[in-house]
Amino acid sequence: MVRAILPICCTTLVIALSQVASAADDCTCARARTAHAWCSACKVGYVAGVRVESEELFDAIHPHGHEVFIERTRCASCREAIKSNGFCTACHVGYLNEQAYFSRLAYILAQGETVDADDVTCPTCRQAQASTGWCATCAVGWFGNVRYRDREKFAEASCQHAVMMAALKAAPRCEFCAAAIITDERCYKCRIAYQNGKPVGSHRVLNSTPATHATRNGS
Ligand SMILES: [Zn+2]
Ligand SMILES: [Zn+2]
Ligand SMILES: [Zn+2]
Ligand SMILES: [Zn+2]
Ligand SMILES: [Zn+2]
Repeated sequence: MVRAILPICCTTLVIALSQVASAADDCTCARARTAHAWCSACKVGYVAGVRVESEELFDAIHPHGHEVFIERTRCASCREAIKSNGFCTACHVGYLNEQAYFSRLAYILAQGETVDADDVTCPTCRQAQASTGWCATCAVGWFGNVRYRDREKFAEASCQHAVMMAALKAAPRCEFCAAAIITDERCYKCRIAYQNGKPVGSHRVLNSTPATHATRNGS
């Protein structure tokens, strides 16, 4: 298996070895960065261009939609959400254009526009892309490589950015906690419940505080 420390060497190696490597081992990092996908050759996923090394966490984020059939949906709140492109808080599923998204993070990312980082020339935008931020000049907000023109949507996205940063921070300690942070659930191993990226209903002190928001330019 081709395994590389840097995605750049990984790509180069795979190009060199593409004749011999099996399909499963082909590095897809370059495409995965803008497709919110997992590269099975490198065992790394990308969400809004951000590297996610825990497969458990990546699966919890589940950054793609699934086709949905309203007639097969039993939850009344989900049926309503399908019609209004809304989010069912009971099932923790968001709907957009008849696709279901299994985390709030995936749902908000689907509402933005994924942009190849190399296509962005504005320096403020480039800086915002490194984490999250609003560029007043271009009137757009960024969550990694995902762009928002709507300020309200961007505000939601930047809340989810903080949740994702908290999950990334928790992952080396416990992958299940990281997943639970994303889905507002309870880690069965550590018995810590999470909501909005923070532990709730537990007096246990964690040494992982959710990441603070990056400076929002122009706000
Ligand atoms: Zn790769
Ligand atoms: Zn899926
Ligand atoms: Zn529901
Ligand atoms: Zn800009
Ligand atoms: Zn845990």
